[in-house]
Amino acid sequence: MYFGSKRFFKNLILLCVIVLIAVPSVFAFRYKTISEQERQYIELLEAEAQMQEAGQLSADSVAQNSFVPEHPSYQDLYPDFYAPQPLCAQERIENTIYLTFDDGPSERTDEILKILEDKDVKATFFVIGQSDEADLQRMRDIVAAGHTIGMHSYTHNYTQIYSSVEAYLEDMYRIFVQIRETTGETPTVFRFPGGSINTYNHAIYRELIAEMLRRGFVPCDWNLSGGDATGTPVSAVEIVRSVVGPAANVTRGFVLMHDAQVKKTTVEALGTVIDQLREMGFTFEQLTPQTMPVLYGYRG
Ligand SMILES: [Zn+2]
Repeated sequence: MYFGSKRFFKNLILLCVIVLIAVPSVFAFRYKTISEQERQYIELLEAEAQMQEAGQLSADSVAQNSFVPEHPSYQDLYPDFYAPQPLCAQERIENTIYLTFDDGPSERTDEILKILEDKDVKATFFVIGQSDEADLQRMRDIVAAGHTIGMHSYTHNYTQIYSSVEAYLEDMYRIFVQIRETTGETPTVFRFPGGSINTYNHAIYRELIAEMLRRGFVPCDWNLSGGDATGTPVSAVEIVRSVVGPAANVTRGFVLMHDAQVKKTTVEALGTVIDQLREMGFTFEQLTPQTMPVLYGYRG
């Protein structure tokens, strides 16, 4: 007889031991596989169920707990501050140079326009706010010559414009309106003073870029620089060297230069810059909303 035998009781004890050890182990393992987040969620559901049973959870408090996306109030500012069309598909054209001139217009604009015309090159001007009629006329000249006019800033005052998203939008709306009213052209491309990510805007650059993109505007940084931003004048030879040398390493070059009364050497360098880049096999284009722009990555 197996039942009641010594062997039967031995096996019974063994079975009890297995059940006592294995079952809690499986439960422990199962419990461990539930993440902290899931456990909190389950606890929340249980708490809600208990509250509903007790009649404590009204329809209102359920609605309050539901997820509602945040809507920053600055999105409501300047309802006509939008690009003529939403962001569109952008294309990369290889072996292309985009010449860009920041901070104008100025007395140098006339000379720059003349050289561009002589060389049959279209470029982009990121302009700042003007009060002088001669400079407003230069904005019209840029557009009349078929170049792209883009927004840079109205005041170009870094500490002011980057103090908040609202301050930035206020400044950009001013230059947007000035370009539109002066030239009849609605600007779409823009350049952040100091580049899209800089020491003044690092705390809010994500919001700034996102808000401008939401409004259909296209930001563009640069990957080649004339090195003419500094207060101390740079020679024309140095400007040519700093653009043309590194151009060998890019297939699309976005060249930063400056349009200001003091930037005489930039004008002196421009013809040679164009000639040498052309010899390297580049063609020249102006920026449009369809251009895939270059934007800085965040380097920590
Ligand atoms: Zn600038």
